[in-house]
Amino acid sequence: MNPLAQLDHAHVWHPFTQMRDWLKREPIVITSGKGAVLRDTRGREYLDANSSIWTNLHGHNHPKINAAMARQLKKIAHSSALGLANEPASLLAAKLVEVANHRSRRREKVDSTSAAASRRRLQKVFFSDDGSTAMEVALKLAYEFTRRTRGPKTKPRFLSLAGAYHGDTVGAVSLGHIDLFHKAYGGLLFPTEKVMAPYCYRCPFNRASPERVDARDYRKCNWECVGQAEQKFSAQKKRGNPFAGFVFEPLLQGAAGMIPQPPGWLRRVTDIARGHGALLIADEVMTGFGRTGVPPVSNQSAARAEQEVRARRDACPTLFASHREGVQPDFLCLAKGLTGGYLPMAATLTTGKVFDAFLGRYEEFKTFFHGHSYTGNQLGAAAALASLEILQGDESGRSRILVERTLAAELKSLWSQPKVGDIRQVGLVVGVELVRDWRTRAPFPLQEQAGIRVCEAMARRGVLTRPIGNVIVLMPPYCATPKQLRRMVAVLAEAMAKIFARRAGR
Ligand SMILES: *Cc1c(COP(=O)(O)O)cnc(C)c1O
Repeated sequence: MNPLAQLDHAHVWHPFTQMRDWLKREPIVITSGKGAVLRDTRGREYLDANSSIWTNLHGHNHPKINAAMARQLKKIAHSSALGLANEPASLLAAKLVEVANHRSRRREKVDSTSAAASRRRLQKVFFSDDGSTAMEVALKLAYEFTRRTRGPKTKPRFLSLAGAYHGDTVGAVSLGHIDLFHKAYGGLLFPTEKVMAPYCYRCPFNRASPERVDARDYRKCNWECVGQAEQKFSAQKKRGNPFAGFVFEPLLQGAAGMIPQPPGWLRRVTDIARGHGALLIADEVMTGFGRTGVPPVSNQSAARAEQEVRARRDACPTLFASHREGVQPDFLCLAKGLTGGYLPMAATLTTGKVFDAFLGRYEEFKTFFHGHSYTGNQLGAAAALASLEILQGDESGRSRILVERTLAAELKSLWSQPKVGDIRQVGLVVGVELVRDWRTRAPFPLQEQAGIRVCEAMARRGVLTRPIGNVIVLMPPYCATPKQLRRMVAVLAEAMAKIFARRAGR
């Protein structure tokens, strides 16, 4: 066994991993990466089909991010944000505020005149280290803001979505609703409410029989999921303590299984939440920074790629999923892609209104007593600034549209596979749900590890990704070429054929 693999086996405890299984085989030891390709100690190359667990945006070893970090490194790597400001963190905060309020031109005209919308502008940035801490910060700010505005006797309550995952720290786990991860820690958690989230493929209200297209496209329902949200909010209001905050991932829930919301759901439910006075807490840790794609334009004449890129970018030059349905949250939580996948850094953006509630004379102790050692880290901020510059360039817009289109075209071939139940794509995110029988949607029991086994077979063929239960995730870096994307989908098909043929023959 490779000596590094031996050291790993001796000492490293891996996240979300049954270590007994891990210790049975030699791990892949990554030594370098370039673009969408990772290389291991044996010189084998792999496609990074999940962008190193959803963090990497522009590919590995990107010359612009490398150069920005090298420049910063010559100045300083880190100094504390406790009592000190620094150059890249100041620049990054300003840049994040600029992009977090970006709206479609048409909408801007209407909204900029309304006082409510201007109070809702995201103006302040609290830096931390990862997605979980970005959520903790939002949660604590929303909690304390509510007590200060509704009175100190208030017990602020939060509503989040069934199947939600918002991170692994105790506050973030309290907002989560994945029993497999969270149940064991019930005794540590504070109570939150959950509401049904759209999951058209497995929705009890969807009366449509399975078809070989995305379940959102053929669903037959009466928006019962929206009705249930409405009920939750009014029931809580009747208890005399309306929800303080509504926590959601916009457009699709990631770790829940890449579960997309039908168009219109986000707008409707956030309107209801606002109507009941709840703060909107958008977890864009996974969906942020262009991951959900560049919005399509209805104009058919924009068929030529160049024109389409321009038209799509002009129509709504946003990088965030919330904006796709015109939703401006009170808290925007960012992490994974913030530094382009280079360093752990996160940001919680919020409004001037929330910020003002923490202002006062020193002895009033209204200070937000929260912070992390590496808050505002210079190297991370330099990487993030470079990543944002790349994201806003024409080339990135063009490649994102190309990745989205290529995936959509290639994925069609997978519908012929009998163990594929649902294929759902939102921008540059794909979930392929494996089922025992697509005609009945009968799932594989988790013990069979269908998802894990398919991903292992993919790794042997040079494509790396991780499943979520029985859902195979494809989430390539934005620089992935059509050839690399075709390979990812082809290898997934080969892996399924191999794994399921063998089982059937048993
Ligand atoms: C990954 C993730 C988190 C947690 O982020 P970490 O950096 O792993 O702490 C929170 N919310 C969502 C939606 C995520 O995908």
